[in-house]
Amino acid sequence: MIDGNRKRLGETFKQLVGIDSISKEEGNLCSKLKIIFESMGAETIVDDAGKNIGGSTGNLIARFKGNVKAPPLLLNAHMDTVEPGKGITAILEDGIFTSKGDTILGADDKSAIAILLETLQVLNENDLPYGPIELVLTVCEEIGLLGAKHLNLDLITAKYGYALDATDTEGIVTRAPSANRFEFKVHGKDAHAGAAPEKGINAILLASKAIAQLELGRIDHETTCNIGVIEGGKAINIVPNLATVKGEVRSHDPDKLNKITDKIVSSFNEVVKNYRTKSTENNLPHLESKIEKDFSRTHIPDDHPVVKLAGKAAKNLGREMVAKTTGGGADANIFFENGIVVGVLGTGMRDMHTVRESVALGDMVQSTELLLEIIRLHSLEQGLID
Ligand SMILES: [Zn+2]
Repeated sequence: MIDGNRKRLGETFKQLVGIDSISKEEGNLCSKLKIIFESMGAETIVDDAGKNIGGSTGNLIARFKGNVKAPPLLLNAHMDTVEPGKGITAILEDGIFTSKGDTILGADDKSAIAILLETLQVLNENDLPYGPIELVLTVCEEIGLLGAKHLNLDLITAKYGYALDATDTEGIVTRAPSANRFEFKVHGKDAHAGAAPEKGINAILLASKAIAQLELGRIDHETTCNIGVIEGGKAINIVPNLATVKGEVRSHDPDKLNKITDKIVSSFNEVVKNYRTKSTENNLPHLESKIEKDFSRTHIPDDHPVVKLAGKAAKNLGREMVAKTTGGGADANIFFENGIVVGVLGTGMRDMHTVRESVALGDMVQSTELLLEIIRLHSLEQGLID
């Protein structure tokens, strides 16, 4: 990539991270991007997702017609960032972008948006051949893939494509787990902790007993389980009448996912049931449980055209492309669930969701070059994917 482009890519990235866009507050970024894409000749639509999830905007879809007849290619990134993500300033030192140290950088996922912008600019400026591109920039990825979950799929015709939302520029994520999330409310009974503790039912104690029976962390090579939130109690002199426990299970094997989820539910049920056999209270303690499917797994076979196309593009550039497994969920999981096969490519972003987050400009250049080569091959070899 020539120096001018490298510089422009860095400038674009700097500008993007300077526009605050924490989850549900992507409106400002979205309207700026919409204008840019329209000035590049795209047809843009903002869907209704924002209304449904209480955010300031919906997902932004930008359609580029291209100049070659080919099946549409989906390209995806997310507009939102985690916190602390307000007032970010990107600093470039020795070719690496970081924040000033008091915020995240927002390379997750603005490095991707910068790469997409640069890619489209290069295509247009140089009149390069490319097929139709459907750019899908989602909201609220970071708070449960909410934008993708509420995406108006009627607006999408592409059946496959790429997301840019990983680290390794020589990797493509093709496997991601399914996940369930759970929330238990253990209802006990309040009482004065000093004067009449026997009149109370300690909800925290019951929740703890249920948790103590569980195996957490890495269960096996493809299964993980976590309790991430526990809340309860009002004061040290009151027997707590409520404890709330929230967590998640992930597995690449749907059977294991269900088995572990069932085990957790029965652990809570059992503790509450056992207490009730000796309780004199009518309906106490009792348990409210909420189990929700969070997302389904992604499993793209190694011989799928999306993997082969990325592999061929990398090879043409003299690079490696390795199919990767992740333990995380992404918008790609939601696309996959809806029959759209999306491989996740890296932008070079590192230490995401921390104030130490960084991205090397060189990695962003590499990622742009790869994407341009993928788009070129896609336009030339229409037979590769049908
Ligand atoms: Zn991300």
